Amino acid sequence: MALLITDECINCDVCEPECPNQAISMGPEIYQINPAKCTECVGHFDEPQCVQVCPVSCIPVDPQRIESKDSLWAKYRRLQDAIVPGPIAAAAPAAGDGPH
Ligand code: SF4
Ligand code: SF4
Repeated sequence: MALLITDECINCDVCEPECPNQAISMGPEIYQINPAKCTECVGHFDEPQCVQVCPVSCIPVDPQRIESKDSLWAKYRRLQDAIVPGPIAAAAPAAGDGPH
């Protein structure tokens, strides 16, 4: 599931540097999460880091973007391949660890 920052955000800036996927950025008025980059911290941490640090608890799951753990892992791998292209990506093809 990608997460969502609601308009209760007070722009305290603490979540942005915590995101391992650089999914959080300042929007027109409040911080926002790029759902294409948010893996709910799958691949990096057990818990969503932004949720852990947000002082006003304004980062719920986006109900429009419910994703399975498998799909979050796939997103994590795509992001890693984009960051580290070449031999490492080539040496680690998708192992097909799901039934799909
Ligand atoms: Fe970034 Fe993790 Fe928060 Fe998603 S849940 S925005 S990946 S810190
Ligand atoms: Fe907004 Fe919460 Fe991020 Fe602070 S931690 S900028 S209140 S979403």
